[in-house]
Amino acid sequence: MRKKDLELELQKLEGFDKPNAELEQYRTPPELASSVLWSIYLKGEISDKRIYDLGCGTGTLGIGAKILGAEKVVCVDADGDAIDIAKRNADSAGVEVEFRTMDVRDVSGSGDLVIQNPPFGSQKRGSDRPFIEKSLEIAPVVYSFHMEETDGFVRKYVERCGGTVISSQTVDFPLERTMPWHTENIESIRVGFYRFERS
Ligand code: SAH
Repeated sequence: MRKKDLELELQKLEGFDKPNAELEQYRTPPELASSVLWSIYLKGEISDKRIYDLGCGTGTLGIGAKILGAEKVVCVDADGDAIDIAKRNADSAGVEVEFRTMDVRDVSGSGDLVIQNPPFGSQKRGSDRPFIEKSLEIAPVVYSFHMEETDGFVRKYVERCGGTVISSQTVDFPLERTMPWHTENIESIRVGFYRFERS
């Protein structure tokens, strides 16, 4: 498998059908997803690891991790419709993933790694917090996307949850044209891709 093959696989997956704005349903675009997953894979943090994808949406990150050889992947989302799409996506990609339809706050379990692209808290203030908290509870190492503007807050909140930001990298996050009346070209926002570890 090459990075390009992963991207092609992720491109075949279905996106959100009717994205729910309040749940901040924006899919990680296949190109960005394959690029971050590939860099994590090269660090040896995917093969044979137990990985959680919190707020999995249509499953891009979790399914990608499983394609790259994770031992076990658990995908969690509060939205049953998104989970239905994610299940179809896992089937069509030919991988086995465990799905849980629940609020992130109610997740229990432990793993080696969390890879998540949670809501950014731009629609509903604070909606990113339970993801930071839960991810550090589940795994010693977390990769997580957050809006660049919230960087100061993210760093403080990670510390409050017993973690440390080890690294972060700013990336362009293209927002897909998800609604029929979206006619403008794809707009990008600046997003930080973080690595946290339990302190
Ligand atoms: N991680 C996916 C989707 C990102 S959109 C991807 O990278 O493509 C954020 C997702 O978080 C949405 O699917 C939304 O339904 C989910 N979500 C929002 N609040 C949640 C909560 N409290 N508990 C669980 N999932 C939640």
